[in-house]
Amino acid sequence: MKSKEKIIKSPLHVRIKISSRAKRLGLRVDSKEGGFLLNVPQLIFQRRDFQKNIDRFLLDAQPWMAKQNSTARQCIVLKPDLKIPFQGRETKLVQLKQIGPCSTVHIGDEIQVSGPKHFFHQQLVAFFRKKSGSVFKDTCINFANKLPKTVLKKPILFQRFSIKDTKSRWGSCSSRGSISLSWRLILAPEKVARYVCIHEVCHLLEMNHSTKFWALVEHFDPDFKEHRAWLKTHGRELHIYDD
Ligand SMILES: [Zn+2]
Repeated sequence: MKSKEKIIKSPLHVRIKISSRAKRLGLRVDSKEGGFLLNVPQLIFQRRDFQKNIDRFLLDAQPWMAKQNSTARQCIVLKPDLKIPFQGRETKLVQLKQIGPCSTVHIGDEIQVSGPKHFFHQQLVAFFRKKSGSVFKDTCINFANKLPKTVLKKPILFQRFSIKDTKSRWGSCSSRGSISLSWRLILAPEKVARYVCIHEVCHLLEMNHSTKFWALVEHFDPDFKEHRAWLKTHGRELHIYDD
């Protein structure tokens, strides 16, 4: 018999999965949906005292769950009607009913997706990647063209641009002139994403975090400290969405 899934509404957000293969109750962090996933053997599920059993198990597990909850990375799957920040503005995700080819468009305060429902999340992530690719590349080219060119020091030529999804950094710039940025910055306020572009572009001239480097960043973005602080405080919020 195949495993079946059952969602039990609980303040602890525990998703229950009945499994014919499981031998005992097993609890783990649910990285896909957020919260926890409890594997329940079919045999236990069929017993009359099923609910009592589960309640007791979850009560015992509470200290462990509380600890996991504070450290676990939240993970949200993008779904219709969910409101997310897009370029810093609250934007509603909408699934269009019309049948036709897959398309994703940003209109006003909505992002409208048409295509098969099970592709909703992937379609949106692809849209964010594409959008961030075009917006951030343009921003980088624009600032790279503005870099000062002195006789003594010339910036490295801006050669390549790519979009990544690194957890530890928002962007990078290599000594070969290739700049990478995280697509998740498309969810941040525009000024913040612009600051990251400026930061990486300035590395084309100053491959360090020296006083000279920060002075150059400030020249292009006088409020860069505010934008850097935003990322420190809110950066994690951009990572709660599944990739
Ligand atoms: Zn840097």
